[in-house]
Amino acid sequence: MSAAHLNPATLATQRPLTVRGLGKSFGGIHAVKDISFDVRPGEIVGLIGPNGAGKTTCFNLITGFYGPDTGEVRFGSDDVTGRKPYQMARMGIVRSFQKTNILKSLTVFENVLTGHYMEARQPLWRTFFPGRAVRETERAVRDSAARIVQVLGLAHRINTPASVLSCGELRLLEVALALAAKPQILMLDEPAAGLNSQEARTFGEILKTLRGDLVQSILIVEHNMGLVMNVSDRIVVMHFGEKLAEGTPTQIQADSRVIDAYLGGGKKA
Ligand code: ATP
Repeated sequence: MSAAHLNPATLATQRPLTVRGLGKSFGGIHAVKDISFDVRPGEIVGLIGPNGAGKTTCFNLITGFYGPDTGEVRFGSDDVTGRKPYQMARMGIVRSFQKTNILKSLTVFENVLTGHYMEARQPLWRTFFPGRAVRETERAVRDSAARIVQVLGLAHRINTPASVLSCGELRLLEVALALAAKPQILMLDEPAAGLNSQEARTFGEILKTLRGDLVQSILIVEHNMGLVMNVSDRIVVMHFGEKLAEGTPTQIQADSRVIDAYLGGGKKA
């Protein structure tokens, strides 16, 4: 199904993200309890649930911002459980940040360039004696930044300061910064927050073009149901810290347990 988005040669180098039995408590409250799911190569997986369901905690456990009490996270054959966020990023599991990474006085292009810092790092002496290797790296980084800007539909804003971007454009720039770190798995936590329905639709269409091109797979936590249903190949539903359901958008929309969880609010079954 979704692996069809990747050509066979690319697929051979791809790795699934595997979450097994993940658990985390805060002061006796099970924020996440025994959560298991996969993000397979070529997939966009949505992680949804009512407020307080444990989505953000789960996301933070996978990206290394929290250490889990139980369970494991594997990336291909590598056990990456409890690795620090920067270690995860180096391995190819990269999350986006809302606003915090964007420098408002810099242009769109300059912001995306800053996101390439890992790739562009050079020893200090090279700053004073830049040779061919440095110039080639610089060119590669600029080409990469230009391509990311273009794929995200921001080419017409490339030299615009981030301070004057619309909400929708800012959300795309946040994704662009994450893409600059060359993720295999792109992790998005409420990337469409504050977008109107038209902006969310545009955002979703762009997101779908990334998979199999700039990223292998995407895990998205999002409250905007229209967006999640539109972009996801598979959806995992959390409720009271546990996995309530998993399936295609069509299956999830027809699942009475999911409907009850959203309509029933705080009552635990
Ligand atoms: P929302 O959609 O409202 O953002 P969520 O599904 O992302 O919610 P979490 O933020 O993961 O849910 O919270 C799950 C539960 O864990 C909630 O009861 C929350 O109060 C609790 N919780 C989350 N983080 C902490 C923390 N750092 N300390 C104490 N309790 C926490």
